[in-house]
This record gives sequence, C-alpha cells and structure tokens, in this order.
Amino acid sequence: YGALTGCCVWAIVSRIRPKKHISTHKKDDVDEEDIVNGVEGLIGNTKLVRIKSLSEATGCDILAKAEHLNPGNSAKDRVALFILKDAEERGLLRPKQGDVVFEGTSGSTGISFAMLGRSLGYETRIYMPNDQAQEKSDMLSMLGADVHRVPPAPIMDRKNFVNIARDKAKELTDDVNTPNKGYFANQFENLANWRAHYETTGPEIWRQCAGRVDAFVTGSGTGGTIAGTSRFLKEKNRNILVCLSDPPGSGLYNKIVNGVMFDIREKEGTRRRKQVDTIVEGIGLNRMTRNFSIAEPLIDWAYRITDAQAVQMSRWLVHNDGLFVGSSSALNCVAAVKIAKKLGPGHRIVTIFCDPGHRHSSKLYNDAFLDKEGLPHNLPEDLSFVDAA
Ligand code: PMP
Repeated sequence: YGALTGCCVWAIVSRIRPKKHISTHKKDDVDEEDIVNGVEGLIGNTKLVRIKSLSEATGCDILAKAEHLNPGNSAKDRVALFILKDAEERGLLRPKQGDVVFEGTSGSTGISFAMLGRSLGYETRIYMPNDQAQEKSDMLSMLGADVHRVPPAPIMDRKNFVNIARDKAKELTDDVNTPNKGYFANQFENLANWRAHYETTGPEIWRQCAGRVDAFVTGSGTGGTIAGTSRFLKEKNRNILVCLSDPPGSGLYNKIVNGVMFDIREKEGTRRRKQVDTIVEGIGLNRMTRNFSIAEPLIDWAYRITDAQAVQMSRWLVHNDGLFVGSSSALNCVAAVKIAKKLGPGHRIVTIFCDPGHRHSSKLYNDAFLDKEGLPHNLPEDLSFVDAA
C-alpha cells in the first residue's frame, strides 16, 4: 500500500501545486502563474504567521502554519484531496458517476470532502457527533453534503459515528438496485492522511524555515498532521523536538508519558459522557489509530492543556494579535509557549492554526456557553495562565 501511495504522490502533489492550464484568452492577458484551476488549486502552500505577541513575550520565534486559510478552512483540505485521489487511483471512486464519499468526522474533514466533492464530482454523506458545533454542520449542508448528526458513542459501539459511516458505505456498494459505489474515507486509519502531511505540510515548513526549526507542536485528532509533518521534519533533522498538545479527556498524553492510554477511572468517568471530555474540537483520542501510531515513536514531549487555558489563549490572540482561531489552534499556542519557556529565548517553535474562530462561535467564543461550563473567558493580563496546571 505504501508503494502504491508513493506512486500516486507525484500526481497528487502536482495537483496541489499551481500549474499551467490552457486558457481561452490571449497568452499575455492573464498571469497563469497566479491562477489556479478550481478550488483544489487553492489548497496548501499556506503561509507561516509569526505570532508577534507570543514571540515578543518569550524571546522565541513562534510561528503558526495558517491552515485555516485553506479554501475549506482547515488542514483537512490536504487530507481530503489525497484520500480522494488515492481512491480514484485504486478504482474505488469514479468521478461524476453518482459515487458517494462517506465519512465520520467532527466536522472539518467533512467540510473538505463536501467542498472537493462538488469540484471533483462526488456526493458526500457525513456522520458527525451531535456535541460538535452547529456551525460546522450548517456549513456542510450549505456545501450540499447529506449530514447526519448522531449521539456520541464509544468506538466499540456500532452506533459510533465512524462505524455508522463505514456500514452505510458498504450498504450502498452492496445495493444491487444501484450501480453507485459508497467509499468509506476512513480518515483515522487511511494512510493517505499522514502521507498528505508528509508530502506537503512537512516540506513546506522545512522550506519556509530554511531548515531551522527547533520544535514542532500540535494536537492529534486522527494523528495525520503530527505523523506526516513530524516524520518529514525528523528525517531532515532528528534533533527537532516533536511535541504533542492534548486536551482533557484524551488518552494520548498518558500513552506518551506513562505508556497506557488511560486509567480505568478516566475511562469510566469521561468516555461514557462525551467522545472526549473537552470543549476543544477536533483533537483528542482514546484509541490508537494507524495514523497516530506512525507519530507515537517520534514524540519527545507531551502536554496536557486545560480548556480554561485554551479559552484564555483564544482571547489573548484576538486582543493582542487580531488572530481569530479555533479551539485546537489556541490549545496548540498554549503548548508552544510552554515549550518556549522550557527551551529559553532564541528558539524557533512551529505550530498549526487548524481552523478559524468563526467555526467556534457557539462554543469557544460564546460567553454564555462558557459560563455554563464554568470556564473563565476574561482577557488575561499576561501569559502566567500558561504555567497553571
Ligand atoms: N484541529 C481541528 C479543528 C480538527 O478538526 C482536527 C482534525 N480532526 C485537528 C485539529 C487534528 O488533526 P489530525 O486529524 O491531523 O490529527
């Protein structure tokens, strides 16, 4: 499978990179170098943004990869494009023939599939837990996806959103009354996920930093971002520190630090109530995915960040930098500052802005919701909240 994916890589990467196209206009009246063919041409090659306030406060160079500026507003655009192209190469999806992409997603990946489905010729059917922000589900509907919100359930349960997506895809493929195929994209286990970051995000960061990166930190939802980016960076320089930022309720911090996913009390206490017991969306895992298993041996340090810290960082970034980003991005920045304090001034730390703030207006940026959750949302005076807990 790896070799197969490798064979497809050039074709896929060349889609992400802008390329020349035949134009009906005269040769000189457009700058073809500056024009991309379709929405997929807008994916990737995102800027690194220096977070001025955090860099000034710590004496480090704290940079975030602006993945929220992809056309579907998250790094999942890269993954969805790689997964669709890989499935096409393997004959599992045929464009413009009524084939349907099925996915279980907290929202971002679904939005990327829905967007690319429109451009490349696929229908999308999305199953998402109903504790995720309404605005993501609205966005999916506006893009024409068939959205099903289901109660959160553990992965062992057949009613888990990922399992439903898998079963429904098979149902469609097996249906003798229609020639349409269902393709279960399976972002958690599909290795085209980490490959997307290995082939694009990692090389972009390396090039943008001219090879001078001291630490890379991000959270893990499927593990694709941390696996692909870290693998590339470590292959270039194995001294680059790879760090995981983990939200409450997730087992990954424990797995890295203590070698086990979670203790029984945590399992009983949190997993029954919610998928992951946090207001932070898109990250946190309580099982080993194929994508995360590629990252695990590469992770040097792990941090468990609280919801209160993520909320305070979100307010700090808006107020001091005009940066309006989502909860996992804010959580990443808390970890980046922790690393900066530990390493001392003069180091470069790269993290990810996973998605924009407006995807979180009903939770992270809703003061009434935060009051109900007992979370402080005042503007912090300084960065001392980063040291708490
Ligand atoms: N942040 C957000 C908002 C996400 O939706 C996701 C993906 N679920 C991530 C971070 C984590 O990315 P990955 O799946 O590559 O670990």
